[in-house]
Order: sequence, then structure tokens, then C-alpha cells
Amino acid sequence: MPREQKKTQFIKGIGVTPQIIVGKAYLVDRGKIEAPAKVLPENQVRWEVERFRAAVEESKKQLREAKEKLLHEDAVGPAYILDAHLLLLEDKNLIETTVETIKQSWINSEWALKINLDRVRKIFNSIDDEYLRSRKTDLDYIEQRILRNLLGKGTESLSHIKEEVIIVAHDLSPADTAQMAKDKITAFVTDMGGKTSHTAIMARSLEIPAVVGSETGTHYINTGDTLIVDGVTGVVVVNPSPEIVQEYQDRVRSRQKIERELFQYRDLPAETLDGYRVNLLANIELVGEIPSVLEHGAEGIGLYRTEYLYLNRKDLPSEEEHFQAYRTVVEGITPCPAVIRTLDIGGDKFISHLDLAEEMNPAMGLRAIRFSLKERDIFKVQLRAMLRASAYGKVKMLLPMISGVSEIREVKKILNEVRLSLTAERVPYDPKIEIGIMMEVPSAATIADILAKEVDFFSIGTNDLIQYTLAIDRVNEYVTHLYEPLHPAILRLVKQMVKAAHNAGIKVAMCGEMAGEPLYVPILVGLELDELSMNVFSIFGVKKILRAYTLRECTELVDASLQLSTPEEIEGLVRDSLKRKFPEEFRENFSSKISGN
Ligand code: PEP
Ligand code: MG
Repeated sequence: MPREQKKTQFIKGIGVTPQIIVGKAYLVDRGKIEAPAKVLPENQVRWEVERFRAAVEESKKQLREAKEKLLHEDAVGPAYILDAHLLLLEDKNLIETTVETIKQSWINSEWALKINLDRVRKIFNSIDDEYLRSRKTDLDYIEQRILRNLLGKGTESLSHIKEEVIIVAHDLSPADTAQMAKDKITAFVTDMGGKTSHTAIMARSLEIPAVVGSETGTHYINTGDTLIVDGVTGVVVVNPSPEIVQEYQDRVRSRQKIERELFQYRDLPAETLDGYRVNLLANIELVGEIPSVLEHGAEGIGLYRTEYLYLNRKDLPSEEEHFQAYRTVVEGITPCPAVIRTLDIGGDKFISHLDLAEEMNPAMGLRAIRFSLKERDIFKVQLRAMLRASAYGKVKMLLPMISGVSEIREVKKILNEVRLSLTAERVPYDPKIEIGIMMEVPSAATIADILAKEVDFFSIGTNDLIQYTLAIDRVNEYVTHLYEPLHPAILRLVKQMVKAAHNAGIKVAMCGEMAGEPLYVPILVGLELDELSMNVFSIFGVKKILRAYTLRECTELVDASLQLSTPEEIEGLVRDSLKRKFPEEFRENFSSKISGN
């Protein structure tokens, strides 16, 4: 569509922070710079190396300044991403190999850098984990930064922006975000990014409404265009008609009203009308999310994904780094518990110096606990740090991707060795630390009664449980329509796992995306889950629904659902029920189809 036509456009991306913003677009030039390729005369090679080194130094300087700014704003979480970029710029392997390429092949810096980054990208491409694969963008960021410095193209600063705007960019780097004056930039829209991309993480942790992964946003949007950014549905409306603006402004008002109303749930107990209590906890990825967790009245951390500690770096995190992160989380949330999950990577290839084999099917490969049991020294470092942190509050240890009993017994053996060494060193830890397992592999769900005798709690990971049970690749856009949390097979499995846990006298949580979707709350309560752990933004809404039902109503809904044959029929039943409970808000809150991915 040519830019001149100010026709209303609807662009669909991924809503990251659930707020709606109406404002003026500000298109930021983050156009991709292509590396020019040149062969050099021999006498220019020395100079070229110097040119390259100067561009790297300049890039480092810019990133350090951006980091300073972030730290100044107390955004501790996001600052670590800039550290990761700085580490890449200091990576001898990458920088010196590029210098070698320039020297040996007599080619320009841009070309040599591209050759070496392409080699690393190839490795990232083979990782079958959406989150880890998206970390490839770190390489793109530093490449673009070095290229801009090589070619003398400055990066347009966002700090000079004086009016309230919605930033629109092909992609935003963490350094860009660091420059954002939070009171001026009311939202952002990017072409790139997925639910777990850095841009999305940034938006969430800085609580800026955003739509990422719009694919074509920068093609249709111009500076000055009026935009509606709907972080709830992921829709961006470009140049909306006055009627549409009015409609959205009404929606903003009604959402603000809903949010104000929802805030009242902060300190109310998460219990049904007849007093059945379900604990609502938060999922976190970054230590910096703790203040938001507390603000949203979470009753603990139900899932701390520790993968972030390992990513974007050339070495492994030290025991001390693990410990400091865990201790901050544990002390921040105390007296509530923190469930810390051991490393769950979808393929270890990205840890470059480990040099492990590439896998055809990483989701079913050396992932999560399988990796930890193979790389025991790495595992032990993490276990030691978790145990040490357990002296500072209530830590619960969670093991990902358990498929049978022997993995649990193996872990316990290793844990005992770690305990013994800590005792010998007189290092304090909680000797009664609870050990739980992610229930996300169908074999585990099937033998839940056996597993329940071995551990202190279950946490159901529906993201993977659905993927493995329904054979739906959770990162494959062609099968997302088949990703059905209300599939009778999933409901049966969850019911079976809860029963097995309760028979054994242990608690069962759910920490997959399903746990934070309002539509599923009556079913999850009826299935008698003890805890639901979710993105902090979902907590109030889930609590509200929970408090509108009796346990009996929810149990009846589950019983009726289990008589039905298809996810659609079950969803229809649940929607009818919610419509009866919340006739006014039904359209606003429950009308969009909720998919687990
Ligand atoms: C899950 O699988 O549901 C889960 C919570 O873990 P992850 O999304 O990290 O795989
Ligand atoms: Mg999982």
C-alpha cells in the first residue's frame, strides 16, 4: 500500500503488555544496513584492521553509555542484556577471528564481520527453542551497531524526543529501549520479535504497551500517523477513522475502569465463593521483575526460569552469579516461596565452548534435565547456588522435562553429594528444601501416581504438555490452530495428575500459559489445582473470575466438559458459563480466541 494513502489499515502482531494506547507514530530509522563487500589492496589491510577496531571500540562506548542510563533508571533487569552485547563485542573469538579474516583475505571489515557472524548464526538457527533462537537477534544488534559505526551512520537517538509518541521500528535494540524517556514513549510497535524476544521482554519488564512481530508495521506507518496500539489483542490500527478512534477511546476508558476495578483484587484472597483457596503466583524470567510481582499481589514465584542466567554470554555463570540472582529473588519475595527451576534449554549448542552435537529434533533431544544429568558439573554449580539461597527464604526446586522415576533418583543422588559438600564447608542451607517436577511430558502424566511418591510437588507445564500430547510444535505457526488447551486429552491428563498428587498428599500447580488465561479459570478451579502461576498482568483478572464461582459450579463444569468430545464444545460450555457470570464484561474480556501459544 503506498504511503500517501491515509487509508485505515489493520495490522496484526503479538500484544505484549495488555494496554491500549492511542497516539502519534514516530518512525525510527533502524533500516537494516547491508555490508558492502570489497577486496582491498594489500597496503590497505593494516589500516582496515584499525578501522574495524575503532568501530568496535566506538560501539562499546555507546553501549556502556546506554547501560549507564539504564542503571541510573534502576532498570536492573534489562541492563543485563546490554552486558550480553558488550560481552559479544569483547569476544576474542569473534573480534579476533574477524581481524584474521581481514588480514588473510584482504577484504573490508564489513564483509569480514558478516562472514564470521554468519558462521555463528548458523549455529543459532539449528536451535529448536523459540526463546534461544530469538537470542540470535543479539548478533544482529551488534552487527548493525558496528556497521553503522564503520559507515559513519549515526544511530538516531530516542532520547531527544520531546512529545508523546508511539515508536515504530523494524526492530528495537535494548540500547534503544534504554534511551527511551518513559514519559514520552507511550508504546512501541516493531516488525520483528516474538513473545519471548528481547523487545517483548523489555516491554513487559518496563511495562510499556507494545505490539511486536507486526511484520509489516514499518511499511504502512509514517511519522505523524495516528495509531491505536492494542496490546491486548496485538492489533495496530493505522490512521483510524474518527469512529474507530472513538470506539477505541471508549475501550481505553472501559479498560481503565476494569483495571481500577481489578486493582481492588490485589489484597483479596484468591478463593471461591464457598471459600476454596487457590494460590496465585507469578512466573518470572528476570530478577528485576520482583517489584512488579509484589505490586500485583502474587503469593510467591511459581516459576523462575533460570535460562536467562546462561544466555548471551561466552562463559557459564559462576556459582556466585547464580547465588546472587537467587538470593535477590528469594529475599525479595519472602515470606512467600520462590520456585526456582533448574536449567531448561532446548538444545545446548548455543553454549559455544561445549561443542555438543547438533540434533535433528531438539525439542525431543538433550533438553532440560537430560542436559543437566549429562553435564553434571554445570548442574552442580546451579544446585549449590540454589541450596545456598535456600538459607535466605523459602526455595522450592523444580526439575524440568521429567519423563520417569530414574531421572528424579539421579538428581537426588547428585543433590545429596552437593548437600554433603556444603555441610562439610559449613555453608547454611535448608535441609528440607522441597523438590518438585514439571509435569509436561505425557509419560510423566501417565505415571503421575508413581512420580507423586518421589517428589514434594508437581507443576504442570501446559506449554510443553500440549505440544507433546497433541504433537503440535509450539513454535510452528502452521499448527498453532491445533494448539488446544481445552482438548479432552489435556483435561483428562490434568485431572489424572491432580488426583495422583492429592492421593499422595502433595500439591499440584500449573505454570504454563494456560494458567493465566481468564477463560480457563473455572475449569482449572474445577480440576482442583492448588496453585496457578502466571504472568503478573493476569493475576487480578484470574482472581476476579475465581472469586465469582463456587467450587461446586467449577467441578460441575469440569464434569460436563469431560462428557464432551471436542475442544470447541468445551469452550462453548465455558463461555456460556462466563457470559452468565459476567454479562457486561463478556465481550471485552473473553471474546478473542485464546490460544496457548
Ligand atoms: C511449560 O512448558 O508449560 C512451561 C511452563 O515451561 P516452558 O514454557 O519454559 O517450557
Ligand atoms: Mg516446558
